[in-house]
Amino acid sequence: MKPSTPSAKATPSAKATPPITINWDEIQTVFLDMDGTLLDLHFDNHFWLEHLPIHYANKHDISVDQAKADFGEMCSHIEGTLDWYCIDYWNKKLDMDIIAMKRLVSNKIAIRTHVETFLKHIEKKACRVVLLTNAHRKTVELKFEHASIESYFDRVITAHDPEIGIAKEEDGFWDKLHNVESFDPQNCLFIDDNMSVLQAAEHHGIAHLLAIRQPDSQQTPKDTQHYTTIECFSQLVAESV
Ligand SMILES: [Mg+2]
Repeated sequence: MKPSTPSAKATPSAKATPPITINWDEIQTVFLDMDGTLLDLHFDNHFWLEHLPIHYANKHDISVDQAKADFGEMCSHIEGTLDWYCIDYWNKKLDMDIIAMKRLVSNKIAIRTHVETFLKHIEKKACRVVLLTNAHRKTVELKFEHASIESYFDRVITAHDPEIGIAKEEDGFWDKLHNVESFDPQNCLFIDDNMSVLQAAEHHGIAHLLAIRQPDSQQTPKDTQHYTTIECFSQLVAESV
């Protein structure tokens, strides 16, 4: 999960977005994040920041504001760790069926604009395409039920896989990834919406990094620091759209 503070609705930019040039001859592996990168983070933010607190408030007979405060306090202790992203952890911690609750708002799961065009574009390239996510397998399965992107990947790896066991932003993640997936950092393209995750990848020497400017379509764009920014995936397939 990736809760963040809600903010005002973003106004779609009328400004043209320039193409982002990638030398595909240098790319052997494309690692792609899921939530906030390929899929709109609005589902996740809505679920964790609005939907879940309502059910938690009903369960404990407290106000929704109190539920949000209580949940925020619980999150603050484990933010950025694997537990934060773990369905089993929250099932037990909250004594609630998180996946069943997610299904109630699963109509909000959405693929970002031009993502499928991009995935079809790289399908033709001579590179391996790997989904690399902090999301729990149960969440990945739910997302794939509502967003038909699974077939574009050569492999799906989650930080919860037993051989890894730490979140993408934690030290050692990329070393553990080497144990299960062969790749040369110099020949990797990695796209993610989390700056801490991109920093960890940068420290490991991943050569080609791209950040998502507006992970949640209902919130304002974010600061992508020094990373090259994707406003829209059409920038990566300019000749195709
Ligand atoms: Mg993400």
